[in-house]
Amino acid sequence: MLERFWDILFPPKCVFCRRVLTEGEAEICTPCRGRILLPDIKPRTAKGAFYDEAISSLWYEDEVREALHRFKFSGRQNYARPLARIMAHTAAEKLAQKPDIITWVPTNRLNMRRRGYNHAELLAQELAGFMKTPCLDTLKKNRRTAPMFDLKPDQRRANVLGAFELSCRTEEIAGKHVLLTDDILTTGSTASECARILKMNGAGRVTVITAATPRK
Ligand SMILES: [Zn+2]
Repeated sequence: MLERFWDILFPPKCVFCRRVLTEGEAEICTPCRGRILLPDIKPRTAKGAFYDEAISSLWYEDEVREALHRFKFSGRQNYARPLARIMAHTAAEKLAQKPDIITWVPTNRLNMRRRGYNHAELLAQELAGFMKTPCLDTLKKNRRTAPMFDLKPDQRRANVLGAFELSCRTEEIAGKHVLLTDDILTTGSTASECARILKMNGAGRVTVITAATPRK
C-alpha cells in the first residue's frame, strides 16, 4: 500500500532519459534499451594491462553519461541496482568462467566523506546479489590522485601507480577469479593498477566489469 502511494508521488522513471516508465518496463525504457546497450562485442584485453579482460554494458555517451554523473555526484545511490542488473546480464552473457569474488575500485577517504558513498562499491554489492557471488572488500586507496579526464595515457598510469593497497588477507584472494567493478572504463589505468595489486597478492584471474565504456 505504502509502495503504491510512493509510486503515485514519485512514479518510476527510466534511469537514463527519465521518462516515466510504462507497465512492464523495469528501470530502463524500451527506446533506451535499444539505443544504449553495447552490441554483442567480445570481452576486451588491453596491451600491458594487468587485468585479464574487461567487459562493459553501455556506451558512455549522452543519457548514460548524465545518468552516471547523477549516480556518482548527485546522490542517486538508487541507480546502483538497475545498473548492476544490466551488468549482471552482461556478465552472464560474456564471462566464460564465473568469478569467485566480486570487489570494487576503492575511492579515497575525502571522496567518501564528501559523497557519503563509493559508487563502485554499491555496484559491486548489487552485482554480488544478482550473481549470487560473495562481495569482498579487497583494496583501499592510500593517497589522493589527480582527476583522470585531462591526463594522457602515460600520465594516467603514473597518476595511479602505487595508489592502492590490499585491505584483505592474501588467503582470501589466493588463486581466485576476482571480478572488479567500476562505473566507466576509459584507458583502464585505474583498473589495471588495482588488478596489479590483486595479482601481486595472489589473485588468479582479474576481470573488470564496468557499467559503461566510450565508443572508440
Ligand atoms: Zn529511457
